[in-house]
Amino acid sequence: MHPDRGFDPDPGVRRVARALYEETRALPIVSPHGHVDPRLLADDAPFPEPAALLVLPDHYILRMLYARGIPLERLGVAPGHGGGDVERDPRKIWQLLADHVHLFRGTPTALWLEYELAEVFGVAEPLDTASAQPIYDEIQEKLASPEFRPRALFDRFRIEVLATTDAAADPLESHRRIRASGWPGRVIPTFRPDALFQIAAPGWPAELERLSAALGSPITTNADFLRALERRRAFFRSQGATATDHGVEVPHTERLADEEAERLFQRARDEAATPADQRRFEAHLLMEMARMAVDDGLVMQLHAGALRDHNRPLAERFGKDKGGDIPVATEFTRNLRGLLNAHGNDARFRLILFTLDESTYASELAPLAGHYPAVRLGAAWWFHDSLEGMKRYRERTTETAGLHNTAGFTDDTRAFCSIPARHDLARRVDASWLAGLVARHVVEMAGAREMARALAGDLARDAYRLDGGAAPC
Ligand SMILES: [Zn+2]
Repeated sequence: MHPDRGFDPDPGVRRVARALYEETRALPIVSPHGHVDPRLLADDAPFPEPAALLVLPDHYILRMLYARGIPLERLGVAPGHGGGDVERDPRKIWQLLADHVHLFRGTPTALWLEYELAEVFGVAEPLDTASAQPIYDEIQEKLASPEFRPRALFDRFRIEVLATTDAAADPLESHRRIRASGWPGRVIPTFRPDALFQIAAPGWPAELERLSAALGSPITTNADFLRALERRRAFFRSQGATATDHGVEVPHTERLADEEAERLFQRARDEAATPADQRRFEAHLLMEMARMAVDDGLVMQLHAGALRDHNRPLAERFGKDKGGDIPVATEFTRNLRGLLNAHGNDARFRLILFTLDESTYASELAPLAGHYPAVRLGAAWWFHDSLEGMKRYRERTTETAGLHNTAGFTDDTRAFCSIPARHDLARRVDASWLAGLVARHVVEMAGAREMARALAGDLARDAYRLDGGAAPC
């Protein structure tokens, strides 16, 4: 891989970018939001084989190949209800990726994959049709060695902290096993109760039942429900969590009267809640989450604007997270006013906002983060977690929000071996962007060095209260 990849082509800017990148290249990785399965690190078993490691957990790869007409079954994805002719030979799945690797040119997936192959696995030649099987063998052999076990890689990647994302009723058994093992890696849970907020979803009664079972007490009223959420937050906090996470399509926030919230809760229990009911209940529950966050100090993340399962037939056949989610235009200023008027001025509260709608960076999110003490702007997310996307994010938010009202980089990945690839690309983009400011004498080199280090870890540590300092209790 070229040592200057991602840097501005202007030789003067590039020289500064190299120096700034050198400042952050080897810093530890702070990963306060992501989707790695904690069982990986609890079991510390060898990864099975290259396709299961690098293809199947990567929805960016699945969606591109699907878009080019390759059925998910050929990539080894089994339909939820069984049936179908599913590819079981991982070598064929790997070959399919290699045969189509050109599709990823110019996308972040190519940069991440190239980094994983070259830097994580030491593969010297590019992946293509001819090299696919020898590279498969090479990675397979390495995966069998102790240095490629998940915990050894965690240490080699210099991960200081890794946050997972966990359902509200999750017993956090893997997190407990990690701590009990005596291995010092810091893997912390994140409380994500989305499924309990989605009262119009057919799975809601089962989710409520799981919550009730986790606490060993019945939940029959909205007051019971809120108390249950409080208790689970406390449990997550006792297991090391510093944050909660909430995914909604529309980030509306509005406190309902108690009777109204109760009526919606009972309608949900009767399995009669409509999508409109759900939107109102979610708006109310976001207010409740903020109220609880003031008390328990957990940082509240809000990921808004993904229309989940846009491709209904695909979701019905294969389940969630198979690449069929599409962004929608998102409004934050009016929608968040209720929540921010209630808690946005309170330094005990911390709200980190993520968007898939880039048009809101300069017009809404940077002004909100640049005003309300409680608000930080989360990293460029998902479709915008890319070379150009991260650059656009900096260019559109910094002049209004400043750097310190942003929350640093989050890799947001479920593919464990892509973690260092993603942080490396983010550090390169930031070094190159900062180098442009230095070249124009907007900031001087000493300031840019501090900014680079902040972006590489300090901002995330602070925003997510990972050092415990800012939490009120
Ligand atoms: Zn996420």
